[in-house]
Amino acid sequence: MGRFLVAGTIRTLALLFTWAVAAAPPFNSAVAQQRLNVVATTNIIADTARQIAGDDAAVTSLMGPGVDPHLYKASPGDLRLLSNAQTILYNGLHLEGRLSDALEKLKLRKPVVTISERIPPDRLRKPTPLAELYDPHIWFDVSIWILAAERIRDLLIERDPSHAPGYRERFDRYRGSLEELHTWCKDLAASVPAERRVLITAHDAFGYFGQAYGFEVRGIQGLSTDSEASLQDINFLINLIVTRKIPAVFAESSVSPKMVEALVEGARSRGHKLSIGGELYSDSLGAADSHAATYQEMVKRNLITITEALKR
Ligand SMILES: [Zn+2]
Repeated sequence: MGRFLVAGTIRTLALLFTWAVAAAPPFNSAVAQQRLNVVATTNIIADTARQIAGDDAAVTSLMGPGVDPHLYKASPGDLRLLSNAQTILYNGLHLEGRLSDALEKLKLRKPVVTISERIPPDRLRKPTPLAELYDPHIWFDVSIWILAAERIRDLLIERDPSHAPGYRERFDRYRGSLEELHTWCKDLAASVPAERRVLITAHDAFGYFGQAYGFEVRGIQGLSTDSEASLQDINFLINLIVTRKIPAVFAESSVSPKMVEALVEGARSRGHKLSIGGELYSDSLGAADSHAATYQEMVKRNLITITEALKR
């Protein structure tokens, strides 16, 4: 009797196993390797590409949380990743200044696409009218970032047309979430009195943000962290902070806080109590547990930090 039961159980298990194998999706390493393999330079681009790609393409970011793209150099491991990628996404507008040689060489062998290439010049910002270079920090105007995301969608469809419906559907959802975010940003920014909307940060990363959401923006360093701030620049800012009674300045997660601390010291020595209003995510998303691990979370987290410090 017992033997029959055991035999019966084994038969049932065998049958279940057969069904399970038959019902399992055909997902194995061979299939995984067939997915389009995309490498992005910054984690902001990679997160956007992932939200559009879903499971249809594999997206890898060269730069992790807190990494400064202006100063980033490719390691031997990065060069391997780049040379194995089927397609590469980068910001362009000189953001990845020290990767440009490697990217130019790769362009001879595979699609290497700058996600800023289809943004109309009249939407791009120059720090001064006579400046030669455009500001690369396009992700801080959410309505401009939608255009960059569109370029990513089109590239995914071009390289992997069999998954076009999925790329389109996820992009439409992503665009919807960004349109909502853009409105949310405008509303929250407007809650800060106009005369208090002065945003001083470690480098000039927030120009698009200022234009879109109504802040006057000053960076201690220029568009790239590769540039040095002079004593004259620092003194100019301290003067501005003291005369306009600005309550807070902001550090950035991918830049050393040294210069921001110098402003605080300088203002205090002139009798003005200036605080560091918090750390903003400028050129990099935060780590997984930071509440700034996705593009949308990063934009929200920054604006909450800014408005809370400037309203005080
Ligand atoms: Zn920057």
